[in-house]
Amino acid sequence: MTTTETSSFTVRRSGELPAPSLPPFGQFIGGQFVAPSSTDTVPVENPATEEVLTRVPAGSVEDVDAAVAAAVAAKAAWAATTPKERSAALLRIADIVEENREILETLEAANTGKPAAVAEDDISSAVDTFRFSAGAARAFTTLGADDYAENHTSVILREPVGVVGVITPWNYPLLMAAWKIAPILAAGNTMVLKPSEQTPLSTLKFAELVAAELPAGVLNIVTGSGRVVGNRLSEHPDVDIVAITGSVGSGQKVAASASASVKRVHLELGGKAPVVVFDDADLEAAAKGVRSAGFWNGGQECGAACRVLVHESVAEKFTELLVREVSEISIGTPGSGDDVEIGSMISGDHYRRVLAALEDVRKDGLTIAVGGNALEGPGYFIEPTVVTGVPAGAAISRTEIFGPVVSVETFSSDEEAVTRANETVYGLAASVWTTNAARSLSVPRRLDFGTVWVNSHLVIANEVPWGGFKGSGYGRDLSIYALEDFSRTKHVMYNHG
Ligand code: NAD
Repeated sequence: MTTTETSSFTVRRSGELPAPSLPPFGQFIGGQFVAPSSTDTVPVENPATEEVLTRVPAGSVEDVDAAVAAAVAAKAAWAATTPKERSAALLRIADIVEENREILETLEAANTGKPAAVAEDDISSAVDTFRFSAGAARAFTTLGADDYAENHTSVILREPVGVVGVITPWNYPLLMAAWKIAPILAAGNTMVLKPSEQTPLSTLKFAELVAAELPAGVLNIVTGSGRVVGNRLSEHPDVDIVAITGSVGSGQKVAASASASVKRVHLELGGKAPVVVFDDADLEAAAKGVRSAGFWNGGQECGAACRVLVHESVAEKFTELLVREVSEISIGTPGSGDDVEIGSMISGDHYRRVLAALEDVRKDGLTIAVGGNALEGPGYFIEPTVVTGVPAGAAISRTEIFGPVVSVETFSSDEEAVTRANETVYGLAASVWTTNAARSLSVPRRLDFGTVWVNSHLVIANEVPWGGFKGSGYGRDLSIYALEDFSRTKHVMYNHG
């Protein structure tokens, strides 16, 4: 084992968040918070302090059935609204989220331990998602009619799919909910959403804030576990499509449960994004890019720049620059300043998973060039870490750690860089760093990932699609493609002969 401790990190704890404004207790069904069917509850923790913030209902099959019934009841009337009416509702929702940004940012930071800057970005991005979908709803037209068979005119109608079941993760609780709610409602569907059991508060608060803007039953929220609530949504015969953002294992379970009713499935799963740094790259820009995109949200990010593949001739220089960048990362509790870059891990369980992965790194004899340790509590803080000397095929290159850990491996030819980058079960995102025009055009085409950045990483815009290949799932979030995914096409043919 070679461990070099080149810097010492501390958790800044100055300053406190304002007390979070908690949502009402209950399941949000049929436009209001209703008493859950059972008295079981789930504690919701602040992972930066380990304090329990509140408890939410541990939803049951009966809760899901009631929410699906409300969504079914609301389906025909919402589908019959014009795109202009749905667009107006989404614009009002965007305004409400923006007006309440402080409440939502505080709640998000308190429930996830994320820095103020990340919580702020989450809410701004969510606002933009609602505004984009409001516009897209009106620009989403079908094909023009034409005669494709003699004396027969064909019209292709775009219809809502019906009731959508949605299951969201904990890393960007409200933003991942917005990525689904906005296009699903824009396309004329009704829905039942289950937030992560660890981070339900901002989604519940959102429901409270926007309740008056939507007809009862259009949006329903049921809290509880994946095993019970998520599984019931996946198998429910009246749910027409189920969409999950989460791990590969949960996606596989959802797809399996969905198969009995032959419903459509939309999967946004894990990632292990390669960052391919060629010998002609601007190494300083690449190192800064990895500092920001590898450690954003504490690396708890499906597109995180977590696996660097660097040309052997520049590996030493690049690693030096990266280690310098990462050594400067500031760590703190959400209230401790706008310049804090990383906060706590989401939970005790996840913190222990990331530390176990670092133990494996040590057992595998890899070099920890910076970081590698837990930070003193309270709170689940881990040092930003760079692991070097990673051989081809090492476990750290293949498994999603989902924490503040970036690994560095080397390659000697373009062919090897492409082959090795593609050697992963995931296919969500990748980046290429080069100043060579030919490489910048040819390499992205050969990479098996749904998003490829050139000289950048983790820049996301609502106009362009987000989603993976291979084990990262199928289905697209954001852009007009999300509205398509939550629509169905119908061919109507008129005989005028
Ligand atoms: P997770 O899979 O543990 O949980 C995600 C959601 O699935 C939760 O709401 C959970 O309750 C639910 N769930 C769990 N088991 C289920 C089951 N059997 N049936 C139905 N629902 C079930 O994931 P997480 O730990 O919350 O989030 C991290 C994962 O999400 C990572 O793998 C990350 O890469 C992925 N992610 C992907 C994207 C993307 O856009 N592709 C975005 C964010 C996160």
